[in-house]
Amino acid sequence: MKDSKSAVNQASIPDADFRLLLETVPGRVIILLPDDPTFTVVAVSNAYLAAVHKTREELIGRGLFETFPEGPDQKHTQTIQNLRASLRKVIATGQPDTLAAAQQYDLPEPSAGERTSTERHWLLVTCPVLASDNSVRFISHQVEDVTERVRAERSQRENETRQAFLLALSDAIRALRDPIAVKEAASRVVGEQLRVNRAFYADVQGDDWVIESLYERGVTPLKLGRYPAQTYGPRIMATYRAGERIVFRDTHTDAGFTPDERKAHLAIGIVSAVGVPLLKEGKLVAILAVHCAEPRNWTNGEIALIEETADRTWAAVQRARAEAAERASEGRYRLLFDSIDEGFCIIQILLGSQGRPADYRFIETNPMFERQTGLVNAVGRTALELVPTLEPFWFETYGRVALTGEPTRFVSHSQPMGRSFDVYAFRVGEPHDLRVALLFHDITAHERARIAIEESESRFRHLADHAPVMVWVTEPDGSCTFLSQSWYEFTGQTAETGLGFGWLDVIHPEDRPAAEQAFRDANANCGNFRVEYRLRRHDGTYRWAIDAATPRLGPGGEFLGYVGSVLDITDRKEAEEALRTSEAQFRVLTESLPQLVWSCLPDGRCDYLSRQWVAYTGIAASEQLDLRWLDRVIHPDDRERTLEHWLGAVAGRHEYVIELRIRGADGEYRWFRGRAVPLRDDGGQAVKWFGTCTDIDDLKRAEEALRNANLELEEFAYVASHDLQEPLRMVNIYTELLIKRHAGDNPQAQQYATAIHQGVRRMETLIRDLLTFSRTIHSDNADKDKADLSIALREATTVLKGRIDESGASIIAPELPVVRGDTAKLAQVFQNLLSNALKYQSNGGTRPEIRITAHCDGANWTIAVQDNGIGFEPQYAERIFGLFKRLHKEEYSGTGLGLAICRRIIDRHGGRIWADSVPGKGSTFYFSLPAAVSA
Ligand code: ADP
Repeated sequence: MKDSKSAVNQASIPDADFRLLLETVPGRVIILLPDDPTFTVVAVSNAYLAAVHKTREELIGRGLFETFPEGPDQKHTQTIQNLRASLRKVIATGQPDTLAAAQQYDLPEPSAGERTSTERHWLLVTCPVLASDNSVRFISHQVEDVTERVRAERSQRENETRQAFLLALSDAIRALRDPIAVKEAASRVVGEQLRVNRAFYADVQGDDWVIESLYERGVTPLKLGRYPAQTYGPRIMATYRAGERIVFRDTHTDAGFTPDERKAHLAIGIVSAVGVPLLKEGKLVAILAVHCAEPRNWTNGEIALIEETADRTWAAVQRARAEAAERASEGRYRLLFDSIDEGFCIIQILLGSQGRPADYRFIETNPMFERQTGLVNAVGRTALELVPTLEPFWFETYGRVALTGEPTRFVSHSQPMGRSFDVYAFRVGEPHDLRVALLFHDITAHERARIAIEESESRFRHLADHAPVMVWVTEPDGSCTFLSQSWYEFTGQTAETGLGFGWLDVIHPEDRPAAEQAFRDANANCGNFRVEYRLRRHDGTYRWAIDAATPRLGPGGEFLGYVGSVLDITDRKEAEEALRTSEAQFRVLTESLPQLVWSCLPDGRCDYLSRQWVAYTGIAASEQLDLRWLDRVIHPDDRERTLEHWLGAVAGRHEYVIELRIRGADGEYRWFRGRAVPLRDDGGQAVKWFGTCTDIDDLKRAEEALRNANLELEEFAYVASHDLQEPLRMVNIYTELLIKRHAGDNPQAQQYATAIHQGVRRMETLIRDLLTFSRTIHSDNADKDKADLSIALREATTVLKGRIDESGASIIAPELPVVRGDTAKLAQVFQNLLSNALKYQSNGGTRPEIRITAHCDGANWTIAVQDNGIGFEPQYAERIFGLFKRLHKEEYSGTGLGLAICRRIIDRHGGRIWADSVPGKGSTFYFSLPAAVSA
């Protein structure tokens, strides 16, 4: 330094040259006099002038601080004071001084007006220019414009701050799920960062701001809620809507306010403020505003920060809202899936070695899942773990959904699970997730019910098709949906022609309207249906049919239509018609019969009396029905007997055959023979009794007369035969005396006497037979004891022994039965029959052969006595049993009473006797008797 100073001095450069030199040096240099406090400018370099936008004239000769005064704000004042201090220090120390920090002193831009200045930062270096006495002669003050560097540094700093801020902001709001909390956090972070008095994020709704949260510090609190933007002046919303921000530096002085607007702002403490709009798709949706109670010259960085905060808050609010919505919606879905009856699950398809679906794992299930599938704790396990034999169909189907993304719906049965499912499967998540959601329900019960219904329907069809009647089914609207096979076969219709209402077409045109009406009425009332009509058969003939139906009712009793049957009743109709005809005929017949005809119910009560009965008794039928006839018209002596006999017959104990007296209209009783037979059904049960009463009064009287006549005759025969025996014995005795004593050798007398003797013998025989005959009459009550026919036969052969031996006859007889009767009388019968068999032999002297047989038919024994005699013409088989009836009068002796006696005896035994013969071949005589009741 000494060298250079001396050099300058030594060179003695003229002043003018120095000035020029100074002016043109590249540095921004100004030379001042050390005349504190003025610091008069004595020289200045061109570069300095350019930097501070001044002319040399504005500076030279003036105090430095005249040109660069303090103010307008603290920053500038500080800078000037620092500079003054630095100058004084240089004067005092004689040492150069450098202000450590860059000093801000804004300068007006040359282009812009005086009012606006631009930010400038300076590095100030002050050096003393010493005189030879070391006093400070001049002060050299050099400035360096470091604005760019400062700005860069600040920007860097701001950037770091901003980054830190944004980090803090995102930290504050990231985890928040509630949109209001997001707003609150954002407001707080930005408010604290910018040290403002208020910050808030407001939603714009119409022309209002809606403030849900606020950051406030040191200012009158604002209420949350809705604020009409109009209150603060129309230009504010207009500015926001145009997408522009609002910056107030000082509400007191800023232009553009009406007095009211200004008052409104100041009322809520807004002295300075920044508001930024958020426009989405051209629409103002929200603002972020910060307020200060002090005037504030907002930096761009601050404004940018507010804008950034606004954007981020909006995004966070949106996210929170979306999440909340999603949560709500997910909650709803979860609730839905948790509450539905359907099973729901999410599965992940597991691919096998070839990349094909081989199994799936349950990721998530709803509560119904377990009940619908029967699978317990399925989550986390695979289908094959749970159901090892699960059909590949399931994972193949779900795999296809996962791989193609095409949803599917199907119904299928799983054998190992024993269930049927109705499944809707759709892919969820990203394709590579291979996830499928299944919404399903167990339809096993439905399936079973469906199968049961199908089976029951097929059973019904089978039944209907094979039923002996035609069957049909209709719907509630009356249309026919089913006709049995038998209908088609009967009518020749097909399903096409018969179903619906086609079945009406085969009803006879005359019957159809009524049938159709009846059917429609039934449908309207849901009642039973029954109608008869003629139905056209496939061959074109009409057959009578009964169509009957009952309503089909659903489980709730609702009308489902009809199931009905059609029965061909032509045969029945014809049978009924025939019956009607036959009944009519029966009636005509009964009414035309001479007998009194009646019918009774199975219990014996009379329900019909013929016209003749009414005519005979003269009493209306209605007054005699039931059992009233008994007291009205039956003889009092016959009533008890008749009732007993009738009730016995009704009870099935015996037949009804009775003789009784019925009173006629004239009051006279006449004898009738009553007979009745029951009409029985297939089971043998009596359904009706038909009876007749035949007038036997005349017969009865004739019989009575005959019986009386016979009695007289028999009386006479008995008396005659008895009384005749004595004179005959006399004749016999005297004839024998005559022969013995007087006929002597007189052959004539001998001959006469013999004739007399023979005649007497014949008469004896006759009288004996007559006596026998009349005795059979008198012993009226045939003995009901047991009679052993073997004994009877033996008695007969004993009597006939002489004749048997004489003729050399053979009698062959088995052991004969015991019957009910009188042995002696039956011996008489055998005796007569054997006697005839021995007698009626040809004169050639054939040896008689008599064969006796016995045969039982249950209740009766029939005995046959067969001979090898001459026989007789069959037409006389009945007549020979008459009194004195003889066929062989000339050749054979006899009285003609033997067979009559036999008949009388057998009759009295309740039996029957008859004969059979071929002339020349022998005869057979039969008699039947009731078998003895074993003791
Ligand atoms: P008779 O005293 O004449 O035998 P019966 O009453 O015994 O009287 O018989 C009536 C008649 O029936 C007989 O006269 C005879 O002509 C005929 N007759 C009876 N038994 C026989 C018989 N075994 N073979 C042929 N004819 C018979």
